[in-house]
Amino acid sequence: MDFELTEEQKAIAESAREIARDFPPEYWREKEEKEEFAEEFFKAISEAGFFGIVIPEEYGGSGYGLTELLIAIEELSANGCGMGGAWYLILTEVLGGLTIARHGTKEQKEKYLPKIAKGQIEFCMALTEPDAGTNTLAIKTFARREGDEWIINGNKIFISGIDRARGMLLIARTTPLEKAPKKTFGLSLFLVDLPNESVKASPIPKHGINYSKSCEVSISELRVPSDSLIPPVDEGWYILLDTLNPERMSFTSAAIGISKLAIKKAVEYSKHRRVFADPIGSYQGLQFPLAEAYAMLECARLMNFKAAWLFDHKADYRSVGETANIAKTVAVEAGIKAVYWAMQTFGGYGYAKEYDVEGCDCSCQVELLLLMLHKLSTVHLI
Ligand SMILES: Cc1cc2nc3c(=O)[nH]c(=O)nc-3n(C[C@H](O)[C@H](O)[C@H](O)COP(=O)(O)OP(=O)(O)OC[C@H]3O[C@@H](n4cnc5c(N)ncnc54)[C@H](O)[C@@H]3O)c2cc1C
Repeated sequence: MDFELTEEQKAIAESAREIARDFPPEYWREKEEKEEFAEEFFKAISEAGFFGIVIPEEYGGSGYGLTELLIAIEELSANGCGMGGAWYLILTEVLGGLTIARHGTKEQKEKYLPKIAKGQIEFCMALTEPDAGTNTLAIKTFARREGDEWIINGNKIFISGIDRARGMLLIARTTPLEKAPKKTFGLSLFLVDLPNESVKASPIPKHGINYSKSCEVSISELRVPSDSLIPPVDEGWYILLDTLNPERMSFTSAAIGISKLAIKKAVEYSKHRRVFADPIGSYQGLQFPLAEAYAMLECARLMNFKAAWLFDHKADYRSVGETANIAKTVAVEAGIKAVYWAMQTFGGYGYAKEYDVEGCDCSCQVELLLLMLHKLSTVHLI
């Protein structure tokens, strides 16, 4: 077992820290308040080659694994970019790029990967439906085959980034659930070019992460060529798991980064804040919970890298899923504890925006929780 980062991994981490210096919490606070896409940040990570980390070299990427991408995400999030450090990379590189790199046809790879690697195209994933959230297998969006085309109808909800995306990973049933020999049979994945007049999206006002819109989507008689399907037809469930596992790990890395920053800020503040004779950081009532949260985060971090190692070494999706879920569960619990105790450490000032404990880097934890909980249960359905 080797826990030492390679020279390349160290360079990626350093590059992420450098980028994060230009996009401090104030930047994200402003983007959040204006509900504005973080154009400058997107450009910076594109130029640094971050969208190509997991894309094979023959398609213009760096040819690294998920491990390297997680290192980048954690460093961005831990150095002030909050959830923004993960969000765009997950939508475009993980849901789009990684899925295509691992499961796409040669033509699909040639069409999308070079553009994804350079940050020239954004992606989104349309899975969730109004009546099928956690229960993915109950989705109703249906694709029927007519000649050389698939015709797709259905409704999706919470589809992030679809307002800007030029590519969409769309999950639909190609065999209805009631006719499927087993419930995991009959799902297929499609790559859809956007915009398309048959796909209508309207943003859902939401609590946070407003530098990316999440939309209600209606799909009506959408026609896509037969080669838009990621083969094999009806067996998309396994590809989907292989998409959701790295998504899960990426959010875990963001949670770890965000939470470590919360602890760091709390520790720094507690060393200087005096309301009685000694700094508040000298009291065990604050020390113990912060230390415990930190310890839990380190455990989650190790487990997450183990999951990434399994994924990069093409281990069975079940062991990848199990390990990724363990990491995520611990990261969420640790994250809640970290942010809660950071808020407590700051006392009343924790509620003031200028300290950022409330702000972009920490309040995002609430959204992280939502995302984490549902993805956990996806695996339990098998
Ligand atoms: C900000 C944001 C961005 C998103 N972006 C995307 C996106 O880009 N693409 C996309 O496809 N989706 C996206 N989603 C959707 C997200 O994946 C769903 O919200 C998630 O799958 C949960 O579905 P639901 O909201 O319908 O909750 P429900 O399935 O209704 O669940 C509600 C609650 O019940 C619990 N629950 C449900 N079933 C069980 C059970 N069997 N046992 C125990 N507890 C259970 C859940 O854990 C949850 O706490 C996004 C959501 C948010 C909030």
